[in-house]
Amino acid sequence: MEQSKGRRVILFPMPFQGHINPMLELANVLHSKGFSIAIIYTNFNSLNPSTLNPNFTYHSIPVDLTENEASIKDPTRHLSILNAKCVEPFRECLSGLLSDDVNSEDPVACLISDPLFDFTRSVAESFKLPRIVLRTGGAASLAVLAAFPLLKEKGYIPITDSRLEELVTELSPIKVKDLAAAMPNSDPEDFYQLITNVLNETKASHGLIFNTFEDLEGQALATIRQEYYPNIPIFSLGPFHKCGPTTSSSSTSLLSPDQSCISWLNTQAQKSVAYVSFGSAAKIDHAQFLEIAWGLANSGQPFLWVVRPGLVQESDWHEALPNGFLEALYKRAHIVKWAPQKEVLAHPAVGAFWTHCGWNSTLESICEGVPMICTPCFGDQMLNARFVSDVWKVGLQLEHGIERGEVERTIRRLMVEKEGVEIKERALNLMEKANHCLKEGGSSYLSLDGLVKHILSL
Ligand code: UDP
Repeated sequence: MEQSKGRRVILFPMPFQGHINPMLELANVLHSKGFSIAIIYTNFNSLNPSTLNPNFTYHSIPVDLTENEASIKDPTRHLSILNAKCVEPFRECLSGLLSDDVNSEDPVACLISDPLFDFTRSVAESFKLPRIVLRTGGAASLAVLAAFPLLKEKGYIPITDSRLEELVTELSPIKVKDLAAAMPNSDPEDFYQLITNVLNETKASHGLIFNTFEDLEGQALATIRQEYYPNIPIFSLGPFHKCGPTTSSSSTSLLSPDQSCISWLNTQAQKSVAYVSFGSAAKIDHAQFLEIAWGLANSGQPFLWVVRPGLVQESDWHEALPNGFLEALYKRAHIVKWAPQKEVLAHPAVGAFWTHCGWNSTLESICEGVPMICTPCFGDQMLNARFVSDVWKVGLQLEHGIERGEVERTIRRLMVEKEGVEIKERALNLMEKANHCLKEGGSSYLSLDGLVKHILSL
């Protein structure tokens, strides 16, 4: 798209893996449409520009968290500290980029930021710079968050333990327990305030971008357009990682992916492997770790397991495994600290993904037609998991925690038994739809065209 040549977009990802990946994928997509790209990033969880797209410019801001601040378990508080520390360095960096802009050949068209960075609105406004927000989670989970005032009015919030198994009739199939776990370790009032901020910051933006597609979340997108954000344009152009050109040498991972898993997968039978990963932030305790290990071992299926340093509380890595556990499984198990996940999910040997249902993992699995086993841990993962198991029906949920017998049974139900056949068919069907929406004339293809025009009109 020639017109976009000579226009620059500044993107500012939140420094967490699940937020960095979609923001940088979106940058690739916009670059492929002719925009120049500038990325602002924090020293905290710093990007490594040498592993990223060499066509972009990268601008670090001196924001770091102390060890104490980084280890705060309350996500709401963690976020508010990060936001407070970012305001001034971000303002300075943006000011520098915009003053270079005066003589630049590619003037800045807009800022794209994460709605959780709630200060970006006032900073962008002070420079009269249009701001678009990227929601890195799904549309259905945002529709649930947007309904919080209604849920408060109807008495679901504050949550009472006796109602946990109840269906939220206004948001079926969401259950009260899904809402409860959406906000662990946070004061409910603080969390409610955070959600309100995010919703207001989004409302005041020049547009909202989703990494999703109409055939997957059309209903939620329609609700969001009609009920919550009738005054801003909404774009659903995902799955991003499938719509931009992939630069195979570029990696947005904060940890280095262990490629040994691909050579191990090459030795396994088609669709035989259970891939297990709980993303970049979830934590489990020792007891859960052992239940997972025994459940996987007893299932009889080969498995590739990402045990991220820090995944198991008070352990460095997988030293909590019983002596001889891996040796006894011989070549049936492979454990890594971090995997090239998209490559893994696209590998023909992978037959199921046991996931925490972070939005990126969910979407990446859908794109490869891999059925899921869901163990959501916190936040929107509970809502994503509910959609995977009860709406799209492309996975099974471990509803009663992690227990080795249930793990073994669920893996076999999905990978070996008849019940899994229909789930796999639905997963392949959804994958087809994901591919289709990106083709010329498809919903994401058209939405991307709309976004490019919108940015050029700002
Ligand atoms: N990921 C990866 N290797 C791993 C585990 C995860 O590359 O071993 C990537 C995964 O592909 C996804 C992101 O990390 O893009 C995790 O994002 P998600 O939203 O699924 O979960 P979060 O980490 O935010 O909880």
